[in-house]
Amino acid sequence: MKDTRYIFVTGGVVSSLGKGIISASLARLLKARGLKVTIQKLDPYINVDPGTLNPYEHGECFVTDDGAETDLDLGHYERFLNVPTSQANNVTTGRIYQSVIDKERRGDYLGETVQIIPHITDEIKYRIRLLAAHGKYDVIITEIGGTVGDIESLPYIEAVRQMRWELGNKAAVIHLTLVPYLSASGELKSKPTQHSVKTLLELGVQPDVIVCRAEKQLTEGIKSKIALFCNVKEEAVIESIDVSTIYEVPIRMRDEKLDEVVLKKIGLPTDKPTDLVGWEDFLNRLKNPKGKTKIGLIGKYVELKDSYKSILESLIHAGAKNQVKVEIELIHSEYLTEENIEEKLKGLCGVLVAPGFGERGFEGKIAAVKYARVNNIPFLGICLGMQAAVIEFARNVLHLEGANSREVDRRTPHPVIDIMESQKKVSGKGGTMRLGAYPCEIKKGSKVDKVYTEKLIHERHRHRYEFNNKYIEMYAMHGMHAVGINPNEDLVEIVELDGHPWFVGVQFHPEYKSTVEEPHPLFTAFIAAAMEESKKKN
Ligand code: GLN
Repeated sequence: MKDTRYIFVTGGVVSSLGKGIISASLARLLKARGLKVTIQKLDPYINVDPGTLNPYEHGECFVTDDGAETDLDLGHYERFLNVPTSQANNVTTGRIYQSVIDKERRGDYLGETVQIIPHITDEIKYRIRLLAAHGKYDVIITEIGGTVGDIESLPYIEAVRQMRWELGNKAAVIHLTLVPYLSASGELKSKPTQHSVKTLLELGVQPDVIVCRAEKQLTEGIKSKIALFCNVKEEAVIESIDVSTIYEVPIRMRDEKLDEVVLKKIGLPTDKPTDLVGWEDFLNRLKNPKGKTKIGLIGKYVELKDSYKSILESLIHAGAKNQVKVEIELIHSEYLTEENIEEKLKGLCGVLVAPGFGERGFEGKIAAVKYARVNNIPFLGICLGMQAAVIEFARNVLHLEGANSREVDRRTPHPVIDIMESQKKVSGKGGTMRLGAYPCEIKKGSKVDKVYTEKLIHERHRHRYEFNNKYIEMYAMHGMHAVGINPNEDLVEIVELDGHPWFVGVQFHPEYKSTVEEPHPLFTAFIAAAMEESKKKN
């Protein structure tokens, strides 16, 4: 298709309405009609990327194949679309300003005064259009982070206004708002939506479609009221009611004809049917489980579920694949000790030790590993979770007293996890870890060999420390084997244990690659093993 179409998604009234899910659902619907779609997130904060953010701020940091540290919404985009994203799919104010200031220092502006309009807005527009290069996509959906009316998102809304003007009917704006229900009067209220649209109008942007998040069904009356007050057609007031799983949203949006309304707006045909057979099959398996199993997720950021978004979603995908319900208990590693571990973890059919950084809660993770190893509970350790498994084995099986990671104890006598050679000279924190996809060769005859169909896999990374190869033989002699190796750098990527039903540690992050269409095989195998454990327990 010659002319790329642009869809902008803004949000109003309150944050956390699920713009990411609405964007991803719309993208999925357009893909189901045969269009090539990508989604981009523009974040109004000044961090150059979310890599330096604490997970408590905006949830997990999602990592792409090309090693970009991005907003967690990109995870939703990939899980819904099953198409990888890249650095270009997430842009922050920090990055925009950084490139404008770099240009200014190079003298690229030839003496001009550098200003928000046009220089910052031009840079924003350039970043949006960048995705259209090479004609790879028919439609680009750009989600603007934050809420309309925020000072920091003003340049983005201005860029949307300009692009809308330049592109005419090749662009559309979707505004997502909240329609609250007042139980005292038993009414849904449209006023916040009206005000939020008014704010957009003041900035020169007329939304084409209004998606209304609501707890209860919108009446025809309220839909027509919103249409009238906000200058949109009634068919363009879309209800987005709370649902039990985010994976139902594309189906709801299809029923509400969101894709049809948008396609009409941007001048694309609506005659192709929406093929969602695979998606519906997934939903069906998800909603009709034939058994259940309970997994403990051991981490130190458990107060905010979004810190482990991709892991939680991967477990859901794997549950659907096995057609079992996965109950997840989030367990705070900071409060786990050798003394209370039995009481806190008993009843679990699988233990997943989460990624992380630093000392806080690390000993609790090691205690959880020991519990899973000794009691033959299926275990999956991811990144720091794998490192915890290696350290636990060193201390309790190899009897290397004081074994640790150099990250936690600089003076450990047994640094079984040590800093990577390539990281020794690194001092800055932003974007300097070992990031993105690297190859890994799977050892023939290992347990993970049965999990993966290929011998050479590519998985995503985000770490500075690694398994210390000096100890590799000692581990093998005692039953912990390095069964996945990076062939170029000789780094241990996967360890597994002899004589245990399912005990796997991975230095990479399989959770970044699990999607609805392709649940990750490691998670699928982990849940299958947990299911066996459930049967045993019953
Ligand atoms: N902190 C560890 C490292 O840097 C693990 C990182 C992680 O779990 N993502 O190697």
